[in-house]
Amino acid sequence: MTTPPNISQMQINDMLYARDMAGDEVHAIQSYLRHYGYLQDQFGALHDGEYDEATEKAVRLYQCCFGLPVSGALDQATLCEMAKPRCGFVDIPPIGGAFTAISRWEQSDITYRFNSFSTKIAKADIERDVASAFDLWSEQCDLRFAMSADGTVDIEIEFAQGAHGDENPFDGPSGVLAHAFFPPPNGGPLAGDTHFDDDENWTCNVGDSQGIDFLTVAAHEFGHAIGLGHSRQRGALMFPSYSGPQRFLAPDDIAGCQSLYGPPSVSDTDNCPS
Ligand code: ZN
Ligand code: CA
Repeated sequence: MTTPPNISQMQINDMLYARDMAGDEVHAIQSYLRHYGYLQDQFGALHDGEYDEATEKAVRLYQCCFGLPVSGALDQATLCEMAKPRCGFVDIPPIGGAFTAISRWEQSDITYRFNSFSTKIAKADIERDVASAFDLWSEQCDLRFAMSADGTVDIEIEFAQGAHGDENPFDGPSGVLAHAFFPPPNGGPLAGDTHFDDDENWTCNVGDSQGIDFLTVAAHEFGHAIGLGHSRQRGALMFPSYSGPQRFLAPDDIAGCQSLYGPPSVSDTDNCPS
């Protein structure tokens, strides 16, 4: 897999792209749509750089999944959505429902470790926000997360810039913010691992409107690390693009994690008569 074009860094004029038009931008849009799973073989032959029938169908599918007016043309609303910072994970276009569940951990106790920290935010803040992000999930489903300094862990967390050893190099500021790998057997040795682009303007301050809220993005990525794909429901934490801080799970996210792990188990102390 290669890096999708960072639409926010492209010089896109106000031109509306529609059927039978061509240009360098069309090539970039096709790469973007292909990367995120919208250009599909059944849409017919693709002509690179031409706004052909397959491209139009892919744009329609993208618009449908993002709740945009389905015009099939590359209009301003569609370009604006594509230019938003987002998760690097493929959007597997779901059929019908909202959340998608891909695979699950077999155990309820999940361990994690930091392989590296950010150059933008303090280590203690990252550790606190990661714990809070895991709490969002463990409060709603039968999983518990614990940091482990040594030994093999389930989820390895790192900050990196550009190429960083997997096949998904980061792309500089904006564009892709982070990505994560599903539980085994998906992802092979990287299963569960979660990577953040250290070229982003990360913040741990929910009031900082200029920054990207680290806790929000971490909670989204950990949704992948426990086995959820992207949701097509705007307002779900597992929606692919970032529109500001969201430090809570939506009902769709809760339904998703409980479909994999069930509700939180009742602890022994809760059963004790008072
Ligand atoms: Zn994602
Ligand atoms: Ca980026």
